[in-house]
Amino acid sequence: MKNIIFIAPPAAGKGTQSNILKEKYDYAHISTGDMLREAINSGSKLGIDVKNIIDKGELVSDEIIIKLVAEKLASLKGKPFILDGFPRTLNQAIALEKIIDDNYVTIYLDLSEEEAISRITGRLTCSCGKSYNINIDSLKPKIVGKCDACGSNLIKRDDDNVDAFKIRFKTFLDNTEALLDYYNSKNKLVKIDVNREVSDIFNDISGVVND
Ligand code: AMP
Repeated sequence: MKNIIFIAPPAAGKGTQSNILKEKYDYAHISTGDMLREAINSGSKLGIDVKNIIDKGELVSDEIIIKLVAEKLASLKGKPFILDGFPRTLNQAIALEKIIDDNYVTIYLDLSEEEAISRITGRLTCSCGKSYNINIDSLKPKIVGKCDACGSNLIKRDDDNVDAFKIRFKTFLDNTEALLDYYNSKNKLVKIDVNREVSDIFNDISGVVND
């Protein structure tokens, strides 16, 4: 089972695919966005430092995020992992290369900006980590506004609005080319079109990680 690095624009479904992979193959799911939001909710110093940056759709500094991920990876003691939202810059990719072994694949979830905007306006998340989308039939919750898994109220993320989204998408594009070149040159890149059913995307990802 290969470790997975997801590179994807906001709303490409990396959270949804990570949840399925976690259930099916027992991956540890490391989402830097979730870790930062947890820090904000807990009121920690880190959370206070990063809240404004995240709400504006900008990137947290490489130094903060690399330290956070390195600590998390060290705590896994060899369990297979999914990196969701990291690395987002070439600097982060180079730092990561020094702390993981060669048993990984980088999966690029490819989605157009128009499709991403349509998805983002319908996205709802739960504090347990599940995410839903009221604009996509297969991702609607069974009961409006409630999580299927734990029954909690679903919430809209503060940065899921069109203004913050446009900055996040531009930031993503600005940084992604260098990342894709980097992983392509290492023969570690697989591109998957995500404008398809969740189950079809999952089947493609399964083929790649079990290869
Ligand atoms: P996400 O949930 O992955 O969309 O991340 C939400 C926000 O957290 C991003 O818009 C950034 O502000 C911040 N963030 C998450 N991961 C990183 C990262 N690898 N580097 C810098 N900032 C990040």
